[in-house]
Amino acid sequence: MPEAPNNNIVDYSLTEKNKKSLQFIEDVTSDPDEVQLRVLSDILTQNAAVEYLHRHSLSGQTDRETFKKLIPVITYEDLQPDITRIANGDKSPILSSHPISEFLTSSGTSGGERKLMPTIEAELGRRSLLYSLLMPVMNQFVPGLDKGKGMYFLFVKSESKTPGGLVARPVLTSYYKSNHFKERPYDPYTNYTSPNETILCQDSFQSMYSQMLCGLCLNQEVLRVGAVFASGFIRAIRFLEKHWALLCEDIRTGTMNPMITDPVVKEAMLRVLKPNAPLAEFIERECSKSSWQGIITRIWPNTKYVDVIVTGTMSQYIPTLDYYSNGLPLVCTMYASSECYFGVNLNPLCKSSEVAYTLIPTMAYFEFLPVGADGQDQERKPVDLSEVKLGQDYELVVTTYAGLYRYRVGDVLRVAGFKNKAPQFSFICRKNVALSIDSDKTDEVELHQAIEKASNHLVPFEATLIEYTSFADTTTIPGHYVIFWELSVKGSSTHVPPSVLEDCCIAIEESLNSVYRQGRASDKSIGPLEIRLVEPGTFDKLMDYAISLGASINQYKTPRCVKFAPIIELLNSLVVSNYFSPKCPKWVPGHKQWNNMN
Ligand code: AMP
Repeated sequence: MPEAPNNNIVDYSLTEKNKKSLQFIEDVTSDPDEVQLRVLSDILTQNAAVEYLHRHSLSGQTDRETFKKLIPVITYEDLQPDITRIANGDKSPILSSHPISEFLTSSGTSGGERKLMPTIEAELGRRSLLYSLLMPVMNQFVPGLDKGKGMYFLFVKSESKTPGGLVARPVLTSYYKSNHFKERPYDPYTNYTSPNETILCQDSFQSMYSQMLCGLCLNQEVLRVGAVFASGFIRAIRFLEKHWALLCEDIRTGTMNPMITDPVVKEAMLRVLKPNAPLAEFIERECSKSSWQGIITRIWPNTKYVDVIVTGTMSQYIPTLDYYSNGLPLVCTMYASSECYFGVNLNPLCKSSEVAYTLIPTMAYFEFLPVGADGQDQERKPVDLSEVKLGQDYELVVTTYAGLYRYRVGDVLRVAGFKNKAPQFSFICRKNVALSIDSDKTDEVELHQAIEKASNHLVPFEATLIEYTSFADTTTIPGHYVIFWELSVKGSSTHVPPSVLEDCCIAIEESLNSVYRQGRASDKSIGPLEIRLVEPGTFDKLMDYAISLGASINQYKTPRCVKFAPIIELLNSLVVSNYFSPKCPKWVPGHKQWNNMN
């Protein structure tokens, strides 16, 4: 009998692997409470000797009742002193019995700085496990994805060191730089158009350029496209819009543009890039058409879906993605954070509005703080995964192997259904986020403080800020914050010079959190902030409109952020002039305190 061709071996083992992954999901969802009890007990056994648990009088007990009785539900601010000690070099087992391997810098901020999430080496394995479930799930709905490549735009961000010498960087940077990603064995499901070297390139322009070039060279092989968040994918398309002529030149000649100077990237690219004049002409023809509608399906004709997160604030990008992709399915595969990777979407081809994530009960011990219809926390007692009720909203609370105990993540989730006995959650919102373009999360208090400070620039002109509101304008690429200002100016002849209003724009940006400033200054994922001055009386009209829609006149407060299209239209119709930030706000990697020490 002739030897079976290699391909079949791959097919066979892939089928087996897929089956195993799906069986794993079946297993852990059939009795999630039992899994959760085991996870909690594992975490508490492993960390029995840590200072934090002892401080709260837990001395070796691993049962749920004692844990819940003794350990408080906390926020980042409660943990900050311990985090600071670890960051400063205290290696004693404060939170985890395993050494803290690094800090993951969350896009959630505290005091304007990224939150630092402790992590341990073993967490990388848990993250890899969650990733390994995604394609077996997807394969049930779109078979044959192993026959081609994924064009994913993935990036690393800069990292810094804490005073005690621990690396601090975003979770994805940590993952892409780990051997779990770099040294992954060949797997048709992690067969990307971008060579690792292009993903790991620190220079964001060179990284994007080379990843796009590879995607274009391999256009016929691409079966799925994506990025982590919708905003990132749209940025890649925008990049193509700006640079297609240069990219086509490289494809025509088979040589790299001299702007690509990173020798490692250059070498990796030469493995992919071959002179291909017909392809260059084809791409040129498509890109020079006046409409970019359906550009994804035109250039990458075998694409089956766009893999990007469009839940939460990212839903604002759905119309743009639909336009570029001619309505291809938008697939949200997973829900994760720096604290912990949470869950997967078991029905990935569902409508974006119906996406629900099944939390994988082995990832961490999950609890749920009920949230009322008015967004307020109801009774303060968190319930377990097995106790949540269909249709109810909850704030997610996690206890992780890395040393977070009953930690409030800040995400509000709604129970949308069940997989076996495990609840599935739709992502409702991140608490207190007023504005977001990319991974930035600006809350009302922060915005208010920034605006108050900036409005001091108006004092010499006898102008005062009467009212303001804001919105995240995603009609521009990248999107940007827009602030509507109504001013009162003493004496009609006085006017505020445009340069002063531009100063106000940059002053607001300088006061915003470091994730915002990094997006503006380094990643260029957020455009310059804009102030739109509106006619006197605009905010009265806004109130009249809200009251006409049923708001109570006694309770009416100016919303500090607006999303409802008719309100934005009303405000826009009353704009008298607009001003943009003339430069990028200052940003340096790391935390303010650490940088001050240098
Ligand atoms: P970070 O701490 O920077 O890793 O960001 C994690 C946060 O991003 C989560 O807590 C959520 O608020 C948000 N996020 C992550 N995945 C999703 C998703 N699939 N849908 C909506 N928001 C998400």
